[in-house]
Amino acid sequence: MNFNALYKISYGLFVATSNYEGKDNGCITNTAIQITSVPNRISLTLNKLNLTHDMIKNTALFNLSVLTEKISFDLIKRFGFSSGNDIDKLENFDNIKRTKNGLVYITESTNAFISGKVFDSVDLDTHTMFFADITDCNVLSDEPSLTYDYYFKNIKPKQPASESKSGKAVWRCKICGYIYEGEELPADFICPICKHPASDFEKIYI
Ligand code: FE
Repeated sequence: MNFNALYKISYGLFVATSNYEGKDNGCITNTAIQITSVPNRISLTLNKLNLTHDMIKNTALFNLSVLTEKISFDLIKRFGFSSGNDIDKLENFDNIKRTKNGLVYITESTNAFISGKVFDSVDLDTHTMFFADITDCNVLSDEPSLTYDYYFKNIKPKQPASESKSGKAVWRCKICGYIYEGEELPADFICPICKHPASDFEKIYI
């Protein structure tokens, strides 16, 4: 099997935000989709290692900011490559507004927001899939939505060449660029930056 086939699915990219006990947080996700139209419902699947996951679990509320192709890599890094357990991702970041549910959404490089209220969820071991009713939503611009494919081709900085006859072997996360030093990557390894599994790493020589 070639699991690169999964990269051919035309995912969007979003910032999922929530708030728990006065603290705002958000994370980048590609796993939000509309699931029914009458009533309008969406699903959102988040890794349990994300603080936003725990906030949604506790409050049943989230916002989705639909990102556009104009996004900067810095915005991806702010919400995707660090943990809200370690830093305040909203610190010194003014490009937000609040929806009726009290949660923030991102106004920078965002063409729509959607507010969700969770009515059910499924435990998927590493992740939780939340099912939500849409309580509010609006279109903010006509900029094209960002896809996972567009992000890899146009937003993510190009990595140095991965093939060399000499040099030390390391493992590089294909999602965020994190380097694991070692000849063999443990099968259960999780990227400490973006939380993707060992299958998203490639062996390179530096
Ligand atoms: Fe990573």
